[in-house]
Parts: sequence; C-alpha cells; structure tokens
Amino acid sequence: MAGALRRVKPALPAPGATAIMMGMAANLTNKLDGIEEVLLMGPGPSSVAPEVYAALARPTLGHLDPYFIEIMDEIKGLLRRVMNTANELTLPASGTGSAGMEAALVNLVEPGDPVLILINGVFGTRMREIASRLGARVDVMEFEWGTPVVPGQVAERLRSGRYKLVALVHAETSTGVLNPAAEIGALLKGGDVLFVLDTVTSLGGLKVEADAWGVDALYSGSQKCLSCPPGLAPVSFSPRAVERILKRNTKVPNWYLDMSLIAKYWEGEKRAYHHTAPINMLYGLYQALLLAFQEGLEAVYRRHLRVHEQLAAGLGELGLSLLVAPTARLPMLNAVRVPEGVDEAEVRTRLRSEFKIEIGAGLGPLAGKIWRIGLMGHTARKENVDRLLEALRAILGKR
Ligand code: PLP
Repeated sequence: MAGALRRVKPALPAPGATAIMMGMAANLTNKLDGIEEVLLMGPGPSSVAPEVYAALARPTLGHLDPYFIEIMDEIKGLLRRVMNTANELTLPASGTGSAGMEAALVNLVEPGDPVLILINGVFGTRMREIASRLGARVDVMEFEWGTPVVPGQVAERLRSGRYKLVALVHAETSTGVLNPAAEIGALLKGGDVLFVLDTVTSLGGLKVEADAWGVDALYSGSQKCLSCPPGLAPVSFSPRAVERILKRNTKVPNWYLDMSLIAKYWEGEKRAYHHTAPINMLYGLYQALLLAFQEGLEAVYRRHLRVHEQLAAGLGELGLSLLVAPTARLPMLNAVRVPEGVDEAEVRTRLRSEFKIEIGAGLGPLAGKIWRIGLMGHTARKENVDRLLEALRAILGKR
C-alpha cells in the first residue's frame, strides 16, 4: 500500500514550531511564478489557447445562477454537435477522461452482466479493470498493441457469445492506433447490445459520429483535442442507454457519477443541486468549443491531418519511423520508434529543458521503445511541428 495511506501517529508541533511556521509564511515564495510556458506535444494535456485561459479567469457565478444555466445549455448543444448526436443526455461530467469512462460503465453495467472489452492498448485495459470491479462477467479480445481491432474477428465472437455491452477505444492514445468504431458499431446494429466508445483522444480532432455509428455511451476529456485544461469529461448516453439505466435492478454503485441524479442538475426547467459544478472549467470548455466552431469543425479536422502529414514527412527525413501502419494512424497521436542506440528518456529530457517542448514516453510493452508525439487541438499547428523537428534535428545530431 502506498506510504500516504499507512496509518501514522499525528505529530504534535514541537515547542516554538508555530512561530517558525509564521516566519516561513512571511517569506513564502509563489511557485506559480516559476511556471514557464511549455509546448505540450505529448499525449495530453495539449496547449491551451489564450481565449480559453481568459475564459477561465471570468468571474465565478453560482452553480444555479440563471445566466450560468444558460451557459450550461449552450455547452450541451455544442457537445451534441461535435459528437454528432441528438442524445438528450449529453453533458460534461466533472472529472477527467477516466471519470467519463467510469460514468459510462458504472451506469450501464450491473453485477453478472456479460460484457466484451476490445483491447489493444492501455485504455482498453483500464475499461476491463473498471468493468471487473463492477462485478461484470468480463470477456476480452486482445489485439496486438500498435495494430487496430479487427472487425471480422469481433463479428465471429459476437456470433458465439451473448453480451449486454461491447466497449472500444476509438483513438488508443498509448499506441497511436485508430480503431474502426463505425465498423464495430455496424456489427451491433439491430441488436440489444450496448456500444460504449472512448473518444477521449479523438473528439475534436477527428470526426466522431455517435448516432450514425450506433454508439450508446460516449465519453471524452477536455484536455486533448478540445484543448482545455484537464478536469471535464463530456459524456453522452443514447435513449436506449438511458432506458437501461432506468430499468437497472441495482442502484448505480457510485453516487457522484449516477447519471440519473446528475441529469436533474443539467436538464429540465427546474434544476436541482447535485454537486457544485466546476464553474470556471465549464467557461473554459465553452470557449474552447466556440473556437472550434468558429474555425469550422471540418477545417479543424483537416488541420490535424495536415500537421500529422507534415510531422510524418519530417520524421522520415530524420530517419525516424512511425509504429503504426499508415491506414490505422491517428493524426493527433504519433507513436515514433526510438532508433537503436538512442537514449529515449534523455531525448525527452533535453526537449523539455533546452527547447521547452514536452513529448510522451511509451507505456506498458512499448515503454522505452517509442515516443508519443501529440498534435492535439491548439498544439496542432505547422509552426509547432517545425519547432519540434528543428529540436529533434539538433538533439539527434542530424544535418
Ligand atoms: N481514454 C483514453 C483513450 C485516454 O487517452 C485517456 C488519457 O490519456 C483516458 C481514457 C483517461 O483520461 P484521464 O487521464 O483524463 O483521466
């Protein structure tokens, strides 16, 4: 168990300690003054637009203030448009992307439910962990990390197994793989198996079509292609997912993420307190969504693709290659093979200290073998790719 959780005897302040503490207070330095801007080109968070920072600094309103409720309603509408859904139950849950994942599963899974989790990276593995903690009968199909889920194999499994729910990660951030969400959704159409889709890394950077793909529960995070700081998890539940929640035999075992309770705050004429919404974070998300719509969603998606192609070409010139085959590559998360003889951690450290650029390391079986370069939201710009390529050229000693 982690040290912080061990029982410790409360320490009594030594004589005179209060005076020392008061003296220290007078000399406090503000660590925030030492923060320097870092170009965030890792797997998230991404860099934040100045307009979003400005939105976060607007005056805090009460969580039931009528003007704030108008902003909440606008956010729901914008989220529906970016998700391409008519789902009434669409809102930003309080918490990071994992809270979205937990919200989807904790509301839709009951003990003993047979569920199928499709895994080809860290985040599919996390869904398995959550589903098993909920007492589901969890089946998994595992695909090699760095390759996509294969719909034909899933179709075969669906013929032999009876499931209540199938879960997939659209954009597997741990490997840079785009999974075939539309095809998996098509396999489930017409049946009563719920389809849960993780769009934490894809939403806002790639077209997501929740309704056309038959998605019943979709969740995301604010800090990737939506380019807001971390802290919110947009979620959406289809009418039949809502019906499943209402007909549960057991209570949702998590009070904070129980959608039937949260909906009373986010929907209807009269709003009821559930928990105090993170008001300023919601301003930030609202502003980030407005920026995306002002640019135009299609233009945003094209920008992500363009910078991805620029990066792939530039890395090629440096003799670096991508892990994932071109047909399954994510534009916003590029897994780059670390060349033989190069110290991957040292390159990341030098990028951060000398060039003020953050990129990510590999996870699980890919630790030490890849770098993860994010081109998400506000980060996804030509000048940022130029800056990173220049820095890599200098570090790797290429002409
Ligand atoms: N799902 C995917 C695909 C992710 O990339 C992440 C985070 O990187 C998560 C879920 C979890 O999100 P968070 O770290 O915001 O809790």
